[in-house]
Amino acid sequence: TKTLADADPDVFKGIQGELGRQKEQIELIASENIVSQAVLDAQGSVLTNKYAEGYPGRRYYGGCEYVDVTEDLARERAKKLFGAAFANVQPHSGAQANQAVFFTLLQPGDAFLGMDLACGGHLTHGSPANQSGKWFRPVTYKVTEDTHLIDYDHVAEMAEREKPKLILAGASAYSRHIDFKRFREIADSVGAYLMVDMAHYAGLVAGGAYPDPIPHAHVVTTTTHKTLRGPRGGMILSNDVELGKKINSAVFPGLQGGPLEHVIAAKAVAFGEALQPEFKLYAQQVVKNAQALAGVLVERGLAIVSGGTDSHLMLVDLRPKGVTGKATEHELEKALMTCNKNGVPFDTAPFTVTSGVRLGTPAGTTRGFGEDEFKQIGHWIADVVSSMNGGDEADPAVVAGVAAQVRELTNRFPIYG
Ligand code: PLP
Repeated sequence: TKTLADADPDVFKGIQGELGRQKEQIELIASENIVSQAVLDAQGSVLTNKYAEGYPGRRYYGGCEYVDVTEDLARERAKKLFGAAFANVQPHSGAQANQAVFFTLLQPGDAFLGMDLACGGHLTHGSPANQSGKWFRPVTYKVTEDTHLIDYDHVAEMAEREKPKLILAGASAYSRHIDFKRFREIADSVGAYLMVDMAHYAGLVAGGAYPDPIPHAHVVTTTTHKTLRGPRGGMILSNDVELGKKINSAVFPGLQGGPLEHVIAAKAVAFGEALQPEFKLYAQQVVKNAQALAGVLVERGLAIVSGGTDSHLMLVDLRPKGVTGKATEHELEKALMTCNKNGVPFDTAPFTVTSGVRLGTPAGTTRGFGEDEFKQIGHWIADVVSSMNGGDEADPAVVAGVAAQVRELTNRFPIYG
């Protein structure tokens, strides 16, 4: 019964360091959030000890009566939250949720349509480095060069030409609404399945602040840790219960072994939180905050891909300031703001350098920032970037000045006590 601090001071020190970092920095990584103490408690519980291969009521191990309760809660709450007839809450991650759908609906070598990684898609949507690109035949659609929006007519033409078995909509760095109804029409016109990966938007969908893919898609995958503000993990939803049975078999025993019941309990807690009326306000505020941040960045001479955002994220095109994504990520971190370098559509810089950074508001909004705070953050980002003068380093005096103000702000909006 030793505490972690006593039993393993080295690991404890690492965790304390990370807690300190999260407390004092402004988290602008669009795929991150700050979970509640209740989610942490569930995830750090004794459920980690339990083997529970199978599904509630149909397990391959004894002693599952309590994990059946928590997994059922997760499934029922997920179905209620998203208005879906079927939910599988066992995927260990978003990547595994996607893999399970491919495993259910495709055979090796089958063609599918997905969004190009360089235009905002995800690695698991057909990148040559990923299993989705190695074992299947991905055909990728891009955004247009002038508007940076998905060109649905082009998607329809590609579908007609390639006759994919599945069309995948959803992205990691696309700030605008996606027309899921149009995607379904295109899928129907060629007899393809429509799969939506709403990993980034799930919390906004749950809160009614982003178009709902569930009525349109045959199957929807998501992560649970981004805007949805749950533990790190994945989930699969559908309105087709028969398809759901096949998906269950694909997740277990198809791909995974024992489910992470401690994580599943934490998913149940997060879904319970997202079912509360406050979560709608949260989701709306996330979008308002992103729009406020984007507005200031544009005012200060930075470009936003597609001109703005309808969601929690934006891609900042740094080329007007002559700096790289790599250097900007680094300099902003010195000023206590974390984000990630990200290619912009048709970027000519190497992907390890990039011409952009991706920014998001889910974590800041959770700690209580509103539009005023995000406008201020926009000015701080612009101050740091402008002080780089087209080079790789920001003016240390500017960085120090911004960092001091960031500290003051994060102290006013504390997390975890
Ligand atoms: N799908 C999308 C659209 C994502 O953005 C991500 C993660 O960034 C994933 C899937 C993969 O999720 P995970 O990192 O949990 O495997």
